[in-house]
Amino acid sequence: MAHPAASVPGSGETLRSAMVLCAQRLSQLGLNRGSTGNIGVRLQNSFLVTPSGIPAEELMPQMMVEVDFSGTVLGTGKPSSEWRFHRDILAARAEIGAVVHTHSRYATSLACMHRDIPAFHYMIAAAGGDSIRCAPYALFGTQELSNLALQALRERKACLLGNHGTIALGTDLKAAFALTLEVESLCQQYWTALQIGEPKILSNQQMLDVMEKFRTYGSGASA
Ligand code: 13P
Ligand code: ZN
Repeated sequence: MAHPAASVPGSGETLRSAMVLCAQRLSQLGLNRGSTGNIGVRLQNSFLVTPSGIPAEELMPQMMVEVDFSGTVLGTGKPSSEWRFHRDILAARAEIGAVVHTHSRYATSLACMHRDIPAFHYMIAAAGGDSIRCAPYALFGTQELSNLALQALRERKACLLGNHGTIALGTDLKAAFALTLEVESLCQQYWTALQIGEPKILSNQQMLDVMEKFRTYGSGASA
């Protein structure tokens, strides 16, 4: 199936539709439910964020809320309660174009245990390093949560939020969506492996080798 956010040229209108489709896909896949989770996408000098408290199935493109980097709503609508971490991530990370937040089952279960996900599988490198960190708990929608998330995301494109959920970043919405699915899949694999015992953790060098190989993976360059 074509990805809902595929071939997004970056126009505000197309992005709004892609955000709705992405939120609905996350809900259909069971990674969010009701109004849990939210999505933020960079515009030129502002960003779009999903509205607060609206179930994915009820979202419409015109409901996406534009917010500037001072936190002022441009236009109408009530932005996601998590607009601060969307704003702070996009402000701090110039290479990032989209932020996806979920309450997906396995990742959130591990986040409730305050567990960092170690390099138990080489695909952990997809999140940018040799672990996926878990941020300490803070109340949803607070600046404290945003600060903790930013810390957990340093040199990474994904993190867990203690007793809460996940954040995944991408250069665009398609990439952030794909990483969200990968993080949930990794957490399911880690959770499953833990039922048998302690998974064998890859070494620093083994993970550096993976990250080096990722630089050309899928790019058409010879492996
Ligand atoms: P919003 O509906 O305000 O986006 O909140 C959902 C959520 O997941 C809060 O962390
Ligand atoms: Zn949340």
